[in-house]
Amino acid sequence: MIKNIKCDFQSELEKIQFINNKWKLDFKKNQIKYYDKLILTCPFPQLKKLSKKYIKDPFIKQKIKMDANITVMIEIKKTNKNISSYLFDDKILGWAAKENSKKRFKSINDLWTLQSTNLWANKKINKNRENKEKNSKILIDQFFKLTGIKKTKILTSLNHGWKYSSNSRPFKIKSYWNTKLNLGVCADWFVGPRVEAGWISANDLFKKMNK
Ligand SMILES: Cc1cc2nc3c(=O)[nH]c(=O)nc-3n(C[C@H](O)[C@H](O)[C@H](O)COP(=O)(O)OP(=O)(O)OC[C@H]3O[C@@H](n4cnc5c(N)ncnc54)[C@H](O)[C@@H]3O)c2cc1C
Repeated sequence: MIKNIKCDFQSELEKIQFINNKWKLDFKKNQIKYYDKLILTCPFPQLKKLSKKYIKDPFIKQKIKMDANITVMIEIKKTNKNISSYLFDDKILGWAAKENSKKRFKSINDLWTLQSTNLWANKKINKNRENKEKNSKILIDQFFKLTGIKKTKILTSLNHGWKYSSNSRPFKIKSYWNTKLNLGVCADWFVGPRVEAGWISANDLFKKMNK
């Protein structure tokens, strides 16, 4: 869907200013750009930091606590278990998905995504960069313990942490649009923790803009 849309990745927006009916955007690499309309779609804490001068709607004052998430992707030797995913009732490990079952690629090994619970990640996230190996080991050990899969050598392992991964309490509005400023906000956290929540929010903004 974004095939014909110009995208600049890896450019952090640091400051926004509304000057003479144009949005002046300051990016980290000393880049400045001007636009007529601005739609922000980033985690709530970053949004607040960028836009508090311009957004006066009560939603911006709401206190939300974004939950963290720590995920480890592992590669192990093929097992005979024909299972696509596990949902655990555990304090540390939330669920595990076998990527091979999605049939996006072929591999002679088993590839698993292990996702922590928010509860555990909230406690570990601030030091996850320093403790990557330690935290990965905790999740991996838990995976073998809970699934009963025989502990085997980890051929590859990759840890990734999200500090602001999800908001499980929806807002009263699904998106925000300010006609005077030509400023919009949409994001999953307005609606819920899953990707469809992001779509619902964006669709709601689209409708508001085209009223
Ligand atoms: C570990 C994990 C697993 C998930 N698994 C699932 C799943 O299995 N199924 C499912 O439905 N959903 C899942 N989700 C949720 C799903 O990923 C989100 O709902 C969806 O990505 C939200 O889309 P979004 O566009 O609202 O926000 P995001 O995808 O979070 O996009 C926001 C973007 O803003 C960028 N950004 C932030 N600040 C700035 C700035 N100052 N300047 C420039 N850019 C900035 C960020 O880098 C990011 O790319 C998962 C989320 C996580 C974290």
